[in-house]
Amino acid sequence: MIKDYVPTIGIEVHTQLKTDSKMFCGCSTSFGNRPNTHTCPVCLGMPGSLPRVNRKAVVLGLKAARALHCAIPPIAQFARKNYFYPDLPKGYQITMYRFPLGTEGHIDLMNEHDKLSKGRGIERVHLEEDTAKLFHEGAAGTYIDFNRAGLPLLEIVSKPEISSGSEAVRYLKELKRLLWFLDISDANMEEGNLRCELNISLSPEDSGVLGTRVEVKNLNSFRAVEHAIEFEIKRQTKILAGGQKIRMETRGWDENIDKTVHHRFKETVSEYRYFPEPDLPNLTLEGDIMNESAFDLNNIPARRVSELIDRFGVPPFGANLMMSGTGVSEENPYYMADFLIEAIDRHGAQGTQTANLITGTVFEFVNKTGRMLDETDLTPKMLAEITKMVSRDELSITNAKKALNLLLEHGGKVKDVVQREGFVQVTDEDELVTLVREVMEENEQIVETIRKGKETAIGALVGEAMKKSKGQADPRRVNELLTELILFKRNQT
Ligand SMILES: [Zn+2]
Repeated sequence: MIKDYVPTIGIEVHTQLKTDSKMFCGCSTSFGNRPNTHTCPVCLGMPGSLPRVNRKAVVLGLKAARALHCAIPPIAQFARKNYFYPDLPKGYQITMYRFPLGTEGHIDLMNEHDKLSKGRGIERVHLEEDTAKLFHEGAAGTYIDFNRAGLPLLEIVSKPEISSGSEAVRYLKELKRLLWFLDISDANMEEGNLRCELNISLSPEDSGVLGTRVEVKNLNSFRAVEHAIEFEIKRQTKILAGGQKIRMETRGWDENIDKTVHHRFKETVSEYRYFPEPDLPNLTLEGDIMNESAFDLNNIPARRVSELIDRFGVPPFGANLMMSGTGVSEENPYYMADFLIEAIDRHGAQGTQTANLITGTVFEFVNKTGRMLDETDLTPKMLAEITKMVSRDELSITNAKKALNLLLEHGGKVKDVVQREGFVQVTDEDELVTLVREVMEENEQIVETIRKGKETAIGALVGEAMKKSKGQADPRRVNELLTELILFKRNQT
């Protein structure tokens, strides 16, 4: 009998903090520049140079730790992690070891039922510096770019509580959204400022002991994370089921073959010979630095999504779209959600309909034109006016969308646009009866087939009436009138 194995997955995320200068020197952090142009004695590891802590990096790190509900200790301490590698000129990396910025937290996330929940635990959050970047150019040798050396990184370590690829992706997406919305990091996987590593182990069901863990690196997309986890679970299950043991190793994700591949067998933690960094003082985490890193916890993105769904009746898809950072410029990440709430709360717009107009028409406009909602002249009040006209049957939903598009494009007043374009819906009974009679006269044959029993043909006449009225007739009432006049022969009166 094959035993069942339970996967235990922990995720380490390294994210580059959004600062102008590096972690311990004044060099620029800008991306995509000529190699080795943003360097100085500190980030090149020259003997005698001394590091200085970037205050902004500490503030951003603390903000993240607090957004992840971590306990903030009174003191944090930098430490040296000693190892040799060409991308590390000092022979050690400055990181935090025994005293990180935050411990024992959790992430707020939207679960698979679209409910706000206390997601997986966070073990620790700490600051460290990035290494230089190596370019292996085959026979030509290896090149080193020190522009990356010393960039400020935040390491976020989850508890080993994740049990599947899809759960890992849910966690990472929420973390990325949180870092981006709170302006802590660009959290861009392609530019390498959000990198993750997995620790995966398998243990026999109900055994209570953790299996030997395997590390997986080189994961540069959510898809890679999901596939790597699925692959490792299968690979390790097969080894264990065959009676063999898992060896502690580091593996890499190879995108081309959709598999993890062996890199090296792992050394143990003690080989890094950590000790407190003698060139830097301890960080005291109280007073000003705590005020500077404070923010409204209600602005945690998952909480805003949940608010849109539960309080304002926005469908989950729309709520997530509005809190995805698309359609708004980077300086205004919350603009879309705030816009909707203002339209509903202050101007009396109807929730679901307003949300649908935003997720439909506004996003179509953004995709088509590349303009962001906060760059247009549309206001929450204007959007509310449109939805109110729809509820009063003064505007069909089709024309509401057209009006919205014109207002997004050119601005103006709602009433003017609706009148100028002839969007006002005709609900006047006499006008509608006249219209319906005209349509019947022009389509005698169809009327005849309907009388003979083919009632579905009424749809064609409704279409004609809408065309004739340029979309202004109220289609529901037109349908009723046609039914009455044709089938109940009220046209004699
Ligand atoms: Zn430097």
